[in-house]
Amino acid sequence: MFVYWNGLCVKGLFCAWLAVGRAGLYNCSPLNFGDMTTTTTTSERDIWLQVLQKVELEIKRPHFLTWFQNTGVLSCKDGLLVVGVPNVFAKDWLEHKLNGHLIQAIQSVNPEVKEVMFQVEPGLAVPTDNRGVDVTKHFKDKKKPRKLPNRQEVKLVEGVSSKCLNPRYTMQNFVVGGNNRLPQAACLAVANSPGALYNPLFVYGGVGLGKTHLLQAVGNEILKNDPDKVVVYMTSERFTNEIIEAIGKRNSKAFKDKYRKVDCLIIDDVQFLANKDRTQEEFFHTFNELYDNGKQIIISSDRPPKELDQLEDRLVSRFEMGMIVDIQFPDYETRLAILHSKCREHQVLIHSEVLEFIAMNVHHSVRELEGVLVQAIAQAQLEHSTPTVRSVAKIIKKLGKHAEGLKGLDTYAADAPSKAVNTAEDVIEIVSMHYKIAAEDIMGECRKKHIMLPRQMAMYLIRHELNLAYEQIGDIFGGKNHTTVMHACDKIAQKLKKDKNLLRDVNSIKKEMGL
Ligand code: ADP
Ligand code: MG
Repeated sequence: MFVYWNGLCVKGLFCAWLAVGRAGLYNCSPLNFGDMTTTTTTSERDIWLQVLQKVELEIKRPHFLTWFQNTGVLSCKDGLLVVGVPNVFAKDWLEHKLNGHLIQAIQSVNPEVKEVMFQVEPGLAVPTDNRGVDVTKHFKDKKKPRKLPNRQEVKLVEGVSSKCLNPRYTMQNFVVGGNNRLPQAACLAVANSPGALYNPLFVYGGVGLGKTHLLQAVGNEILKNDPDKVVVYMTSERFTNEIIEAIGKRNSKAFKDKYRKVDCLIIDDVQFLANKDRTQEEFFHTFNELYDNGKQIIISSDRPPKELDQLEDRLVSRFEMGMIVDIQFPDYETRLAILHSKCREHQVLIHSEVLEFIAMNVHHSVRELEGVLVQAIAQAQLEHSTPTVRSVAKIIKKLGKHAEGLKGLDTYAADAPSKAVNTAEDVIEIVSMHYKIAAEDIMGECRKKHIMLPRQMAMYLIRHELNLAYEQIGDIFGGKNHTTVMHACDKIAQKLKKDKNLLRDVNSIKKEMGL
């Protein structure tokens, strides 16, 4: 079997794929393309629309819009389907990157197609040429919630699995500031040599300041270093319930055996063991058993051990044997850094003035800080808008803890920004406008200098401002290798050190991006 590329006859992988694809697709009802030469009839256009409908579901929207705009069937005769494309970039891309998706779609519409050929036909872009399909008109964006708080199904720690540990809590995404430097360092040390250094490790601090995050991050880190380790994370309530259950089933031996196997026991919010004598007793024995065997114990509480006056003295004195560290409320700079980090996690870009305003006005806990941010994102998503100083001010006021009035409301333009960016597609569009180069050229393969620079710039900005992985960026740019993306980002970073014009370009693009 042969496939013709612009008159050239190539035999190879593609043909083999076509053969396999065909065999698997024969049960589809064939649609007849008919005999045609230069103009596309209505039914052929319908057929191409059906093909596009299938392809649209398979590939990313920016790719679909870029590479299928003004394409159409030029002819189909004796099993040879000629697809017309408006320019050589589209031809190149479809031939090399998309042939799999496209052939599958074509064959599911008409299994009798044996050969596919792409042909550049600039006339297709002319609106009166009914052969080319305007995909932006025919395939309107159906979804488009502006951002993605729920896209965060991302696994942040590779290889970590534990029923009770949340993989979102990692040492890497815990922002360090003056308020938590010591607890973070102690936790990291414990994660790297559990049982050896600070045992027990006792972390205390007010509500919503990051104790659970830090404790779970230690568990995740231990498992990352050694997946065979047994890490148990429990709230003290859960621990109490287990004990009550064990007592109910008269099975306290099984309970003890279970905890004997543990390499690291993490008990969160130990203050809730107050007045639970039987639980405290069991915990005391479990603690001793683990401690004597050199196993790590990590405890958190809302107050230091000596203030846990409703806990047995012997338990409190055990807690005081190791390292005690406290988390304070973060200062303004750390609050702002946390907000930036959370934006990266949620994969959204929010104007820095808006983040500064939140950091300035939310004082009670990191949880509250994050809560305001998440609400702002959700609201903007629902309303297809962008968070502004005014919209977050409303959210903060609703929380009702700021009777003294909000700071900075007059300093910041309350409705700024008018435009903010949150997708790679937006970045490419803005870079394309800045350099006056078509977006498809930026995403294409052309290696001319005046196109390479904007392409590298777009990659650099997507990497640095959207924090996408090199692989993801490579995919967006038509399946480029991640090393190509790394090289592009490095190159721009190096150039920025000495090239003032480029620096001006970046700043002006960032401004356009609402940063
Ligand atoms: P606590 O257990 O002290 O009540 P959490 O650990 O539940 O607080 O923290 C509340 C929220 O704040 C969590 O979503 C956590 O990820 C976030 N958080 C707190 N401190 C930090 C930090 N330093 N860096 C990143 N996120 C933080
Ligand atoms: Mg907690």
